[in-house]
Amino acid sequence: MLLDSFGRQAVDLRVSLTDRCNLRCTYCMPEEGLSWLAKPELLTDEEIVRLVGIAVRDLGVREVRFTGGEPMLRPGLVGIVAACAGLEPRPELSLTTNGIGLGRTAAALREAGLNRVNVSLDTLDPEVFHTLTRRRRLQDVLDGLAAAEEAGLTPVKLNAVLMRGVNDHEAPDLLAWCLERGYELRFIEQMPLDAQHGWDRSAMITAEEILDRLGARFSLTPEPSARRGAAPAERWIVDGGAGRVGVIASVTRPFCRACDRTRLTADGQVRNCLFATEESDLRAALRSGADDAELAALWRAAMWGKKAGAGIDNPEFHQPERPMSAIGG
Ligand code: SAM
Ligand code: SF4
Repeated sequence: MLLDSFGRQAVDLRVSLTDRCNLRCTYCMPEEGLSWLAKPELLTDEEIVRLVGIAVRDLGVREVRFTGGEPMLRPGLVGIVAACAGLEPRPELSLTTNGIGLGRTAAALREAGLNRVNVSLDTLDPEVFHTLTRRRRLQDVLDGLAAAEEAGLTPVKLNAVLMRGVNDHEAPDLLAWCLERGYELRFIEQMPLDAQHGWDRSAMITAEEILDRLGARFSLTPEPSARRGAAPAERWIVDGGAGRVGVIASVTRPFCRACDRTRLTADGQVRNCLFATEESDLRAALRSGADDAELAALWRAAMWGKKAGAGIDNPEFHQPERPMSAIGG
């Protein structure tokens, strides 16, 4: 098992398949992009499947989510999903994506064994989409969402980040749009994980503000906290049962005490937290001939040292060197 010294067990693995992206969301990376990992630094498809296999067979991982950067840019994605679906015990498999490319690949991903997708969409307005992502790809995302639904990658979940003065006025419209389609929407508080280190707490839209904006149009009833488990989103029942909405308040109401995650970067580093400042190099061990038991032991040791919390509010908080897009969000 992947235990830490505070008694938490990690059963949910986030695997970053690439640090590259075809969007440039302002809260994530600069317009010019980043200096991407070179191909030899990336784990190969076989190396990824081997490490995921160790995680599910030997370390108690039950759920695997592929992310990035933009995981749809990984040429071997469908094959990686198929190989992971063939593992015993079979993990739940999901994907976090900006949705571009899902239009073409959703059916193949479903066929390969993917269970669910989370699509990130912050706005329904093409101009606001361009301002936020610096690309004109809204229609591709909408096509991707429709394809995911048609392929049965359900329930389709949407992630949205609100930026003050840019898309924060759209929160109720986004929720109405999702309710109509049966998509489950979750708002994520903006975190200090952008590559350009431009996060400013005083500018961030807080969970409380999100709920105020939604409350102006909808009636929200908190879902009993017992149903939350290790899920980062607090959920509300909308208008007595028309749907649900979630808020991931990583900054103002952190959920570290219930965290059940472990992370593998595209270059084979284990991170025990999004905000960890240390990583454990599984790639070096793997490429120098370590067997499965040795790799599992390294992974266990990496998790044991997990801190009690992300510590964003501590005066000595330091943003991790790697941005969200390189860790795997
Ligand atoms: N490219 C894919 C996507 O956008 O869904 C997967 C990777 S992205 C890093 C994963 C999630 O992290 C997205 O929902 C995105 O909105 C969110 N994200 C990125 N930067 C963030 C930040 N600074 N604060 C909060 N969420 C962030
Ligand atoms: Fe790309 Fe996702 Fe970051 Fe946007 S949030 S730039 S889509 S990795």
